[in-house]
Amino acid sequence: MEPDNPLRPLFRNVSAIKGIGPKTLPLIERVAGPFVRDVLFHQPLRFITREIVENRADLVSDQNAIIAVAAQTIQRGRSRSVVQCTSTVGPVELVYFNIPPQRLKSWLPIGEERLVSGKVAFTGQRVQITHPDKVLTPSAIDELSLFDAVYELTQGLTARTFRTAVAAGLSIAPELPEWIDPHLLEAKAWPSFRNALPTLHGQGEDGTHEHARIRAKERLAYDELFSHQLTLSLIREARSGGKGIPVPGQSDLQTQVRIALPFELTKGQVETLNDVAQDLNSGSRMNRLLMGDVGSGKTVVAALVAAQVLDAGYQIAVMGPTEILATQLFNEMQHLLSPLGIKVDYLSGKLSAPVRREAMQNAADGTTQVLCGTHALFQDSVSFQKLGLVIIDEQHRFGVEQRMRLAAKGSPGEAAPHMLLMSATPIPRTLVMAHYGDIAISALRDKPKGRKPIHTVAIDMQNWGRVQDALGKAVSEGQQAYWICPLVEESAVSDMAAAEDRHALLSQAFGAENVGLVHGRLSSEDKERAMNAFKDGTTKVLVATTVVEVGVNVPNASIIIIEQAERFGLAQLHQLRGRVGRGSLQSSCTLLYKSPLGETSKRRLQVMRETQDGFRIAEEDLSIRGSGDVIGTRQAGLPKFIFADAIRDAELLNTAASQARYLREKDPALSQTNAGKAARLLLRLYDRHHAVDLISTG
Ligand code: ADP
Ligand code: MG
Repeated sequence: MEPDNPLRPLFRNVSAIKGIGPKTLPLIERVAGPFVRDVLFHQPLRFITREIVENRADLVSDQNAIIAVAAQTIQRGRSRSVVQCTSTVGPVELVYFNIPPQRLKSWLPIGEERLVSGKVAFTGQRVQITHPDKVLTPSAIDELSLFDAVYELTQGLTARTFRTAVAAGLSIAPELPEWIDPHLLEAKAWPSFRNALPTLHGQGEDGTHEHARIRAKERLAYDELFSHQLTLSLIREARSGGKGIPVPGQSDLQTQVRIALPFELTKGQVETLNDVAQDLNSGSRMNRLLMGDVGSGKTVVAALVAAQVLDAGYQIAVMGPTEILATQLFNEMQHLLSPLGIKVDYLSGKLSAPVRREAMQNAADGTTQVLCGTHALFQDSVSFQKLGLVIIDEQHRFGVEQRMRLAAKGSPGEAAPHMLLMSATPIPRTLVMAHYGDIAISALRDKPKGRKPIHTVAIDMQNWGRVQDALGKAVSEGQQAYWICPLVEESAVSDMAAAEDRHALLSQAFGAENVGLVHGRLSSEDKERAMNAFKDGTTKVLVATTVVEVGVNVPNASIIIIEQAERFGLAQLHQLRGRVGRGSLQSSCTLLYKSPLGETSKRRLQVMRETQDGFRIAEEDLSIRGSGDVIGTRQAGLPKFIFADAIRDAELLNTAASQARYLREKDPALSQTNAGKAARLLLRLYDRHHAVDLISTG
């Protein structure tokens, strides 16, 4: 980056921050990212206000209290340890997961006074704190701050270290030229970019005021949406009148693949193929989104479209968002296409260097006809001889930049490749347009014949024993089951704790060798190992948090039990239920809830029992959302933003869209006006380099 670029301090590496050592650096990079910008954009999950409590009468459930305790005993379980303490508020239990007892003893020596801070829960007469966020000696009381930002962190990275990094980042954050229209800025009473940052992190005078934090965050959300809309506008222009690779509407190869299928295509599949054939033959570039529930037959359509483009002499790139999903796509493509002599290959960053080199060589010289893979596909070192079609599964998991980088791998002098995007999460058309710009839509609403509906029931948590017994019976008959634990208050620590608790309990009931565990805190290798053990049937029950991937395919799994189902959004419940019902077995979904249920939770569980149509569920979801405190309300099929929420910020999005239009009318290349030049910086701030390149060269 040029020395006079005002963004420079934001793109310094986190390692440049004083006090960040070689041990913490990779941890910060993992939770936030490599740059100072990423640390500053890693927004707090929430804030806590702590109170020092000395009398039992002053203590309330869920309060963040600071209590002076003295440890009496440490009881050690498999993963859970309990420290029994005395205190002025009476007996207090401190609960820890996966902390070695020696460590607990050093934090809480028996009989010595310590100040502990954490969220209070009552169990009977007992006061309980799970994973206190602070344990200090009484003399260190000055270190206790009564107001703190809480961040999502990772094992080994303390809140204090992260706060130090934030403070260091804030001290070098530059003021940038303003890209927001002055009237809008004033009307919204938004702070400048520079001033929004400390407030976002709860620092400075404004930071302790909630309304100021909301305004700061709203400004940053607007920035994000504005950069997104500018990018869309630039892409739209670059593409309009974009020529398409001509592909004949009739294809023998496609017919051959189709004849080899052991089933009839559904009506939706046939219609989609017809629409695609028209697109491909139209002379312009196809940009089409195919939506359909998991199991509705999207991959089969993708293979048929691939066959058609292959027939015209072009190569195909097929990309999935994770190793597991990309491998699955590869297997399916290979299964459908290689019997006809098509060479299908796989590329991922995880392959050994020689294997990867060979895969890249074969793509570059045209030997490989269909290349499947992960993010590795759009790296600069990957090239194709003649790329004609890009297929992207779970497309919302990729940014618009990433899609463009893959599309840019067409041959020079040839039209850019056609695009077929796929998503298992239906989203309303208006939202698709707002977030993806001009795109044609196909939908698979009808399920393949012979699909058995998933038997869905809602059961009160009080009847837990019955559910466990039924599960035991099914497992002994050879069935496999997912057991889903919810995220607890967005904190990955307690989220893990809940899953581990459940894992311990079910291991006891069914035998440890039969029960696997995946949660977000595991390394990707461990996650994969647990998934594979479940896939090959080694484990019968998989306890999981919501990390179970969309689209993961374990046909033998016929049971899913979702704990605290009332806390999930509809879209997510539907996605989770889609894990089963993939094989020939009759499948079931048990929604375990804690009573009493609120009105909207009741409604959601009702909808789940009534229908399995993802499109209807998406509509219901929109109409009953906004009930707060629900996991997965984020519309899963929309792009992930840092600050903005595709649904909640619909109005902000409209403003951003019209402001982007207005700016580009005044200053098409973003090079004449101050606002235009500032907007260029904004695009770079959000990594929209490809968009900037479009105006720089064009
Ligand atoms: P998706 O990618 O939408 O999850 P797939 O294309 O992987 O769905 O299809 C899921 C399963 O259904 C696969 O085993 C596939 O062979 C089968 N399938 C696809 N289309 C049909 C159809 N029209 N009739 C019967 N089975 C189908
Ligand atoms: Mg699929």
